[in-house]
Amino acid sequence: MQVKLLSVTPDAEALIARCARISHRSEDKASPEADRELIRKLIRWGHESVLEFAHAVFLIEGISRACANQLTRHRLASFVQESQRYVDVRDRNLVKPPTLQGELWEKTSSLFSQARLLYEELVEEGIPKEDARYVLPIGTETRLVMCANFRELRHIIRLRGSRAAQWEIREVARRMLVILKEHAEGVFGDLEVEA
Ligand SMILES: Cc1cc2nc3c(=O)[nH]c(=O)nc-3n(C[C@H](O)[C@H](O)[C@H](O)COP(=O)(O)OP(=O)(O)OC[C@H]3O[C@@H](n4cnc5c(N)ncnc54)[C@H](O)[C@@H]3O)c2cc1C
Repeated sequence: MQVKLLSVTPDAEALIARCARISHRSEDKASPEADRELIRKLIRWGHESVLEFAHAVFLIEGISRACANQLTRHRLASFVQESQRYVDVRDRNLVKPPTLQGELWEKTSSLFSQARLLYEELVEEGIPKEDARYVLPIGTETRLVMCANFRELRHIIRLRGSRAAQWEIREVARRMLVILKEHAEGVFGDLEVEA
């Protein structure tokens, strides 16, 4: 899978802190260190609404439709997903779960190849792609763009980065977190994705 940052609010921590300081007329206290400290305090106190002023947009590729279904349950994020109605997906791969190894993976891959051949045949017979796709399994790879504010991203990473979540979405959460920490350590530094 690939998780790529397409866009992030520039100077996100300065913006969040500036907005937060409006309430106490304390804009004169701004500095990178003071801003970060303030953000950490706000998070500890549960005053997370100011995190909504900053956003990030990710391009996530090579994840299964199973994983995409899980991600798109997050209602405060915005998504665009590659359409299987309009795009011919005959060259898409099957995402490999780490538990499927050896002969079991061989069997799974072979079944997927048959499904993909049937998909190709159906499309060539004139069946609309939106119907031909019904033969493809939930492990077929897809791609999507996701936009969310920092508060929602913290929520998604906490939920989906926990061991209770599935390995694939946990990996998405882990990769997003690595990128987000580079841009806003004060906002995301307290989060970890469990191995
Ligand atoms: C480990 C795990 C297992 C899961 N298993 C299943 C499963 O078996 N079946 C299933 O259907 N789903 C399952 N889910 C999905 C889960 O039920 C949620 O739909 C998903 O995690 C999105 O969470 P959310 O609603 O908190 O987040 P978001 O939709 O991202 O919303 C963020 C927050 O905004 C607030 N919010 C959003 N919308 C509303 C609203 N309408 N009213 C009030 N507050 C709102 C809530 O505080 C919410 O936590 C699972 C999730 C996890 C992490």
